Amino acid sequence: MNDLSIFQAALGLGKEWFVTKTEFDAENKRLDIYLDFERGSKFTCPVCETECGAYDAKQQTWQHLNFFQYKTYLHAWVPRISCKDHGVKQINVPWARERSGFTLLFEAMIMTLVDQMPVKNIADMMKVEDTRLWRIIEYYVQSDLKRSDLSKVRRVGVDETSSQKGHRYVSLFVDLDTRKVIFVVKGKDSLTVKAFKDHLLAYRGDPQKIREFSCDLSPAFISGIQEYFPLAKITFDKFHVMKLLNTAIDETRRAEQLDEKDLKSSRFIWLKNPENLTVKQKTKLESLTSLKLKTGRAYRMKLVFQEIFSNDPVSFDREEALRKWYNWAMHSRIDPIVDFAKTLKRHWDGIVRWFVTRINNAILEGLNSIVQAAKARARGFRSVEYFKLIIYRVAGNYGCLPT
Ligand SMILES: [Zn+2]
Repeated sequence: MNDLSIFQAALGLGKEWFVTKTEFDAENKRLDIYLDFERGSKFTCPVCETECGAYDAKQQTWQHLNFFQYKTYLHAWVPRISCKDHGVKQINVPWARERSGFTLLFEAMIMTLVDQMPVKNIADMMKVEDTRLWRIIEYYVQSDLKRSDLSKVRRVGVDETSSQKGHRYVSLFVDLDTRKVIFVVKGKDSLTVKAFKDHLLAYRGDPQKIREFSCDLSPAFISGIQEYFPLAKITFDKFHVMKLLNTAIDETRRAEQLDEKDLKSSRFIWLKNPENLTVKQKTKLESLTSLKLKTGRAYRMKLVFQEIFSNDPVSFDREEALRKWYNWAMHSRIDPIVDFAKTLKRHWDGIVRWFVTRINNAILEGLNSIVQAAKARARGFRSVEYFKLIIYRVAGNYGCLPT
């Protein structure tokens, strides 16, 4: 093998193409590879795939994967064919997609790196403007999205997450069965639910078949689901409900510690479950509970509440137990707990729905950490659009290259 045939093999060129020369510029760390096609070769018409002869040719350039630290370019004379039905057409080359200035291998590398590092860093490493890389990501994510088949979606979780600095929000819709993000949209109002319905309709989904939603207690999602998915039932995410109860306990403690100095710096004790406390914290908890404080009562109410929503099987009727718990809370004379109980009452159907569906937004919580890590990868002037693309990529697995 001479050096040209090595490149020929490395590039995986078909029989029509061959390397004519390579130029190696050590000073500028640059490698240029020149390709040409065998005269007399037949190429297929990009429209009808009929074999046609070359009509003329035009030189084009693509950036290829770096060979070590050498920025590498392919140059080729790309023929135009003259098809008797479609006229003069530029053919598709095997190493790049139409109108891309990068080879397929380069693009595949970018899509792999995007899962691991910020686009800006990839751009620096590859010495390419990041906007050009975003166009690659956009192309693959969008073309994958266009192939979406949402016909099997039945149960959906929705939650919001913030993009840069929390100024702008996007709402994520997850297929709770495949555990993948299937739709991302700007905003966190009820119109995001309408946008999701339109998206379903556009990609073979059937809004009538979506029977379950999991969401937090945000009025925007609730009203959106009721309006656009009237057949669906809502399960309120139990982790959000639990968070509200924890907030109520914390408010109780803050109000009470004004008189009870012992409560100072006990915040985390009340937020944790007994089995997760250190020995020291446990001792503190025991001495505090002996003081007959409101905070101690609220804490015991939380433990019972958690038991009712336990993932393990229980020997009692959960809804009945929750009804008793509600009465207990309403008579507790602890204002934040009474307020929580009222919230519970107002959202009763969706809260007890969990006893039947057992769905929650844990997947979204898990995805949220991936998404937040991806935030740093989405810096740029179109940050919300970039953020959406990255979410589709990392949490929805969109943008896979066709095999
Ligand atoms: Zn044709």
